[in-house]
Amino acid sequence: MAQCFNIAIDGPAGAGKSTIAKKVAAELGSVYVDTGAMYRAMALYLHRKGLDPREAENNPKGFEEKVTALCREPEISIEYRDGVQVVLLNGENVNPLLRTQEVSDMASRSSQVGPLRKRLVELQQKLAKTTSVVMDGRDIGTVVLPDADVKVYLTADAKVRARRRYLENLAAKKSGRDLSPEDLDLAAIEKDVRERDDRDMNRKESPLRQAEDAVLVDSSDMTIDQVVEAILNLAAQKKGRPQVITARTAGFCFGVEKAVAAVYEEAAKGGDIVTFGPIIHNEAVVDDLKAKGVGVIEKKEEIPAHAGGTIVIRSHGVPRDLYEELAHSGARIVDTTCTFVKRIHEIVWKASEEGRHIVIIGNHGHAETLGTMGWSSSPVTVIETREEAEQFSEDLSTPITVVAQTTFHSDKFEELVAILQKKGYNTQVNNTICNATHERQLEARKLAKRADVMIVIGGKGSSNTARLYEICKAECEQTCFVQKAEDLHLHLTGTEKLIGITAGASTPKNIIEEVQKDVRRTDF
Ligand code: C5P
Repeated sequence: MAQCFNIAIDGPAGAGKSTIAKKVAAELGSVYVDTGAMYRAMALYLHRKGLDPREAENNPKGFEEKVTALCREPEISIEYRDGVQVVLLNGENVNPLLRTQEVSDMASRSSQVGPLRKRLVELQQKLAKTTSVVMDGRDIGTVVLPDADVKVYLTADAKVRARRRYLENLAAKKSGRDLSPEDLDLAAIEKDVRERDDRDMNRKESPLRQAEDAVLVDSSDMTIDQVVEAILNLAAQKKGRPQVITARTAGFCFGVEKAVAAVYEEAAKGGDIVTFGPIIHNEAVVDDLKAKGVGVIEKKEEIPAHAGGTIVIRSHGVPRDLYEELAHSGARIVDTTCTFVKRIHEIVWKASEEGRHIVIIGNHGHAETLGTMGWSSSPVTVIETREEAEQFSEDLSTPITVVAQTTFHSDKFEELVAILQKKGYNTQVNNTICNATHERQLEARKLAKRADVMIVIGGKGSSNTARLYEICKAECEQTCFVQKAEDLHLHLTGTEKLIGITAGASTPKNIIEEVQKDVRRTDF
């Protein structure tokens, strides 16, 4: 039998242990063991037997004696059905009954009783002996699995934890679960979280504390994916594999996210729906939408055929005349033009009406550049390269307004503007590169500097991804550009310590996740 690789995750209630442990286990092909659910199942049994949790305070000795006697009675076991842990209390699946405030309260009190702990700890240790597990609880790293391969102490601010629990309960209520008023009272939940922390940390039996060799992870300001990544990287280090770090800013920006969501929403309504140009530069998304009945039109002449339907303007925006034509076409228009792009249209329109020459620093032929050009009523020049900036020779008396394509390379923008200014033009410069792009580029550069291999994910036609590639390649010789996981052919030598991943603004999350998975599984 292959040796088990066990991960212990301890921490206070609401730190995100179970969500994270489940994902880590799925990624590693291990079994997730939620020990809290075992304590909860036992608590449910005690509750059914009429034990009153208040007795723990009024008559602690009596409470302990009763728990000690009762905890020997039920048969608690664990099964996995479709990969989900099912807790069986005397053969009954009690999963749906374990998350109420009453059960939480009883579990927190009864778990202080030594003999009850002993019974459950034995069961947990047995599980980890035969299977690789990711086990979460309060005493896993300290008592249950003191020799675990990776130990994490996962915590978060009590207010953050209470809010998470509240939102979870709210969602549960919406999906029809019967909850008490306290389950939906944020202040009451926070009070309860603090009281449970206090009991868990100050009890005599196996109190909650960070094992000496555990790594502290504070999830207050981290997303679930970031915590999962941090733990997977601890496991990778232990196994002598490279760490895989995905840039926080990788993938869809706010504008693209909104645009894609809007099209999916329209698709769900049905009827005749087309986007004017592909919604994003990503074949996988466009194909998926096609399968859902969303077509793509490219020319003005195609508009009348959809006069009775819905036409979506994509986040790149469209020229002013096309905008007008669409507005009067009779079709319902869903305008997902990014707000940053709209701002550029306004600047260009106003400046051109004042007779200024418009310079767009951007890519020739890019949809956003073409759209922006169409908002100028005076002459426009698109400048993409150094040479073009140097060759620019408008009359020096004509004032110039400069804007940037939102996804342009920020350093290159500065460089091209400096060339124009040196020529002595009266320039009004608007650095309209959007913050998300700027930050994505900064982070990509930083990550590429540290990485042995850098992977940039994005569509072939995505110019912001092409720019990310340029930036990374300048810092990391082994930079690869892929559209999807299948394009990736990594040749690792076994000496790599860090593999970085970033993705352009039009790369969906699922593609990033597939690449992450493949990279983590790549053999040397
Ligand atoms: O993690 P969860 O909130 O589901 O745990 C329920 C209760 O079980 C906790 O309040 C804690 O007191 C107890 N527990 C424990 N030891 C564990 C797991 C949970 O004492 N390993």
